[in-house]
Amino acid sequence: MNIFARLMSGIYIHIPFCKQACHYCDFHFSTSMKKKDEMVSALAKEIAMRKEEFKNEVVETIYFGGGTPSVLAIEDLRLLIDEVFKNYNVIENPEITVEANPDDLSNNRIIELSNNRINRLSIGIQSFFEEDLKMMNRAHNTNEAKNCLEQATKHFDNISLDLIYGIPGMSNEKWIQNIETALSFGIPHVSSYALTVEPKTALHSFIQKGIIPPPEDEVAQEHFEILVEKLEEAGFIHYELSNFGKENYFSKNNSSYWLGKKYIGIGPSAHSYDGEKRGWNVSNNTMYIKTIQEGKLPIETETLSKTDRYNEYVMTGLRTIWGISLDRIQTEFGQTYLDYLNQQAAKYIEDHLLFVDENILRTTRKGKFLSDGIASDLFLLNLD
Ligand code: SF4
Repeated sequence: MNIFARLMSGIYIHIPFCKQACHYCDFHFSTSMKKKDEMVSALAKEIAMRKEEFKNEVVETIYFGGGTPSVLAIEDLRLLIDEVFKNYNVIENPEITVEANPDDLSNNRIIELSNNRINRLSIGIQSFFEEDLKMMNRAHNTNEAKNCLEQATKHFDNISLDLIYGIPGMSNEKWIQNIETALSFGIPHVSSYALTVEPKTALHSFIQKGIIPPPEDEVAQEHFEILVEKLEEAGFIHYELSNFGKENYFSKNNSSYWLGKKYIGIGPSAHSYDGEKRGWNVSNNTMYIKTIQEGKLPIETETLSKTDRYNEYVMTGLRTIWGISLDRIQTEFGQTYLDYLNQQAAKYIEDHLLFVDENILRTTRKGKFLSDGIASDLFLLNLD
């Protein structure tokens, strides 16, 4: 294992609680906080139980995702961070991110977070327009979104904010206003996703009943193009399909996923990867707590085949600025894989959606928005 792989290991901690359910969301969370204390104890216990998995690793990032980690008291977050430091080799100044919603970020709360080793906030703004926030059933309003950014930038230098595009009824002008408002706070990182309609969500049912019109792909594509143009003009690097960072502000945590590094996922529904096997914890709070209390890990694992690893590399390669190294395909997967990739990529190269430079295959600007679809055409089915 090389030193880079060692240094890039990360710990993800899933906090499965939210104040209310956003209409589009299909993540794992509960809106009841009844089991909050038991959950925090179980998370701390899982952190300690899994230390052997990382006995040869150095932890560079700790990431609280969810759900809504900012619903936890600072004491709970501190306890979990301390548990990581107690049980793992952690570098001197790890990136510690907390996902937070604006309604939890009072001035005092922001100061508390900044005084407790947390050095990066990822704030779920989504939109600065009241009607969008209401339609999506977000727990915050426009004023909270703006106020929290104003305060957060005084205490944190490393802030990311999330914006959603392709919302039904959002004109290009409104979308530009959202981007410009976000930029006016001087934050160094933006994550932005198209609104997608997941099965079994409230949004899906509203669309089925004709209460809300469905999002349109053409609108989403236009918004994406505007986003790329505006953020690049403002000095951001488009380093992953949905992520833009100023230099030195790429998310270290997320980059480690995309670069195929190891990570341990703690908490219900959290995923893990050890370089060969992928694991996922049970997506049920009660079962998670019970299993951990019994001293067992509520995890299922699968060993990735060579074809699985190839497909993952193709998918992440096309989504990121690092691209797909054709040399790596040859050395790690062999000539058959390389031939197949070259053959499948040819038509996209001809259509100026992909290009090869210094033996790295990447999407062109025009191909970026289509990268997931193109990747699936480069995937292989079972060669093992
Ligand atoms: S706050 Fe985040 S995790 Fe919770 S319901 Fe909304 S989008 Fe989903």
